[in-house]
Amino acid sequence: TAPPRLIDRLGRPVEDLRISVTDRCNLRCRYCMPEEDYVWLPREDVLSFEEMATLAGYFVDLGVDKVRLTGGEPLLRRDLPRLVRLLSQNRGITEIALTTNGVLLAEQAQALYDAGLHRVTVSLDTLKPERFRRLTGRDEFARVLDGIEAARTVGFPDLKLDTVMIRGFNDDELAPLIEFAKHIGAEVRFIEYMDVGGANEWTMTKVLSRDVILEGLNRRYGPIMAIPGRGSAPAQRYRLADGTTFGIISSTTAPFCAQCDRSRVTADGMWYLCLYALEGIDLRGPLRGGV
Ligand code: SAM
Ligand code: SF4
Repeated sequence: TAPPRLIDRLGRPVEDLRISVTDRCNLRCRYCMPEEDYVWLPREDVLSFEEMATLAGYFVDLGVDKVRLTGGEPLLRRDLPRLVRLLSQNRGITEIALTTNGVLLAEQAQALYDAGLHRVTVSLDTLKPERFRRLTGRDEFARVLDGIEAARTVGFPDLKLDTVMIRGFNDDELAPLIEFAKHIGAEVRFIEYMDVGGANEWTMTKVLSRDVILEGLNRRYGPIMAIPGRGSAPAQRYRLADGTTFGIISSTTAPFCAQCDRSRVTADGMWYLCLYALEGIDLRGPLRGGV
């Protein structure tokens, strides 16, 4: 008999699995990893690609069909295409996606595509090199643009750009980011700044809410139409009068928890049902113990 499907206590199917392939990062975004130095996980605590693929296989047996690779910065993990290949051998996985800061994407885009990666989302908070440096602590703006260009050239469909909107920091770039995305055939998604803990300097006053984003874009572009049929997607998508589409992920002012279908395995094999969860379940111990 088929194993039961994974349904949480609120009746939500857990169908979308995020795997953090590494805790490390080559940027120091102020809202995420503001410190210069971090103590990274010891190598032996980090799951191997085989272990990640094995775990993903168990999740697939329980109803997962989408896997997203994230981090930290996933492209820092050596030979990530090998993991993509292992995952793509699993017939139950219909979509393998990647979220990256783009710095190392130019050099890896082709190999990732060839390995079977379906979709790429690049995080891009600003189009101003100096602002990028202030936000991320690194002078890598040009390489991110190269990465985005490479993803296009290789031919990934549905290229997405994810922008965390911070009031008083990059809220003057709503329209420029929409125009940039349109120009390159991508779709931008504005993410409300979230209080994910740590030293991320979060305050409600820095959150640019969905309503304010829509107001600003309405002044510039005229009427905006919400696109129906969102399903379990975190973003509500919208269409401008000229047909350009964009998304808003209103995690802070209008959370989509009721429709959420994702869970996350960290690089060291802890399983979390929510970004805000304080406690996870250790899967590495049982996995390595042969359970
Ligand atoms: N390093 C990769 C990247 O930046 O795309 C993948 C991991 S990163 C944690 C995933 C996404 O979370 C990025 O788009 C990032 O901007 C977003 N993020 C990080 N901290 C956030 C916060 N406090 N509020 C909202 N989004 C946040
Ligand atoms: Fe690194 Fe992504 Fe966090 Fe920025 S948001 S510090 S790129 S993990």
